[in-house]
Amino acid sequence: AKRAGRNVTRFYDPATHAAIQERIALEADLRQALAGGQLLLHFQPQVDAQGRPTGAEALLRWRHPARGLVPPGQFIALAEETDLILPIGQWVLEEACSQLRRWSEAPATRELQLAVNVSARQFRQADFVEQVRQTLRESGASPQRLKLELTESLVLVNLEDTLAKMQAIRALGVRFAIDDFGTGQSSLAYLTRLTLDQLKIDQAFVASMLTSHTDAVIVQTVIGMAHSLGLDVIAEGVETAAQVDFLQSSGCHAYQGYLFGKPMPIGQFERHLGCTV
Ligand code: C2E
Ligand code: CA
Ligand code: CA
Ligand code: CA
Repeated sequence: AKRAGRNVTRFYDPATHAAIQERIALEADLRQALAGGQLLLHFQPQVDAQGRPTGAEALLRWRHPARGLVPPGQFIALAEETDLILPIGQWVLEEACSQLRRWSEAPATRELQLAVNVSARQFRQADFVEQVRQTLRESGASPQRLKLELTESLVLVNLEDTLAKMQAIRALGVRFAIDDFGTGQSSLAYLTRLTLDQLKIDQAFVASMLTSHTDAVIVQTVIGMAHSLGLDVIAEGVETAAQVDFLQSSGCHAYQGYLFGKPMPIGQFERHLGCTV
């Protein structure tokens, strides 16, 4: 450590040091998480205009032995920087597909769709298409029930590579949604080139659309874009009946949010559906 003068870069900062130590500890723990069976999926219902579940989004959770349930906001970025997202993302896909396989065996759950988040690092792997194909084959899940959520920024980074991979995966029967839509460089020009099924309105717009005129216009524009492109549109982060009313009257008839159910463990989700699998 060096003595830091007024205008001199400090080489030793206890706060930074603590943050680095924390990061190193978390990274070491994350390496254990997969092998230790500490990762799990929670399921958040996605519902239609009548409030009936049409499926769920799979959301990753980490049951840390000392820290308790760690939300993805606290470890996904770290997992991406360390490439741990690759085995973790593959685990999520396998877990989701085996869930879909189970659901296919009961009439009450047979039609459910399961949306899975795909990180940029994961999607950019040269053999990502093959991983999806193989996971579907080995699980026996119906490709039509699986929906992959990609973000706008992911899609735009290398558009040609994105187009080729999406086409190949969609040829398997898998669906695609664009997550957090409206936050990136949305343009009709690129949207028309993607083999897409759904736009997902970002929850930040849903949260502010009733108080911000600009955000209300953005939400309605996204809904209009989806309709003119023949795509489904779903709003996330829906928490109030007033939001549903506005979305409904703007032409959006699919919702996800606390109003309809928080992300929950599989047993609870299946009870929520009112069925036993
Ligand atoms: P996301 O994909 O945008 O997921 C939606 C987030 O909003 C989830 O947070 C969900 O719990 C939360 N949410 C849902 N409804 C409401 C609501 O009504 N109000 C509010 N305030 N929040 C709501 P979560 O589970 O903490 O996940 C955060 C992010 O972590 C996700 O954002 C996604 O980007 C990432 N993530 C989660 N699971 C995975 C995964 O398996 N793989 C990858 N690569 N990323 C994941
Ligand atoms: Ca998502
Ligand atoms: Ca989202
Ligand atoms: Ca988000």
